[in-house]
Amino acid sequence: DTIAQQIKTAIRDIPDFPKPGIVFKDITPILKDPVLCQNIIESFALQLQGVRIDAIAGIESRGFLFGLQLAGKLGVPFIPVRKAGKLPYTVKQKVYELEYGAATIELHTDAFEPGQHILIHDDLLATGGTVTAASELITEMGGIVAGFTFVVGLGFLKGKEKITPLAERVIVLAN
Ligand code: IMP
Repeated sequence: DTIAQQIKTAIRDIPDFPKPGIVFKDITPILKDPVLCQNIIESFALQLQGVRIDAIAGIESRGFLFGLQLAGKLGVPFIPVRKAGKLPYTVKQKVYELEYGAATIELHTDAFEPGQHILIHDDLLATGGTVTAASELITEMGGIVAGFTFVVGLGFLKGKEKITPLAERVIVLAN
């Protein structure tokens, strides 16, 4: 099977989670398969060959799972992008709109140096709102967004179309 097929076979749909009417893609079965996890990291690394990446920014919390592993594979630092109030040192924050209300993400002010090329990673691309906010925050801090990587994309929400103008590459392993 291709990596996309392996991922699609592994993830399961949970109806009405976290709210009625939402079908949640549960990626935890992927984590039970160490060979598939390795293949995911290898696949990202292969598709990123030749791309300048100085650090990987992973989105709380499932973006930490593969983000840190990919950073280890590429031999670059890992930067946690967190929800408001979680990071202990001085932070810069970005407020962004959700369907209902707003959310805030934060980065440590010393997370990276201006001019560095930062890859943004999350487990799943839905509307693209979260990674767009992360991209804006990184850009405001003087970083250059090298690209975006996701294990899964919900194609019908058009997140890829939204974020394609923001960086040279968008990698989604399974749609
Ligand atoms: P977006 O900002 O609409 O693209 O939402 C993406 C964020 O919500 C990511 O951090 C995902 O982890 C999370 N998310 C949204 N829907 C799902 C889902 O069905 N399964 C797992 N995570 C989801």
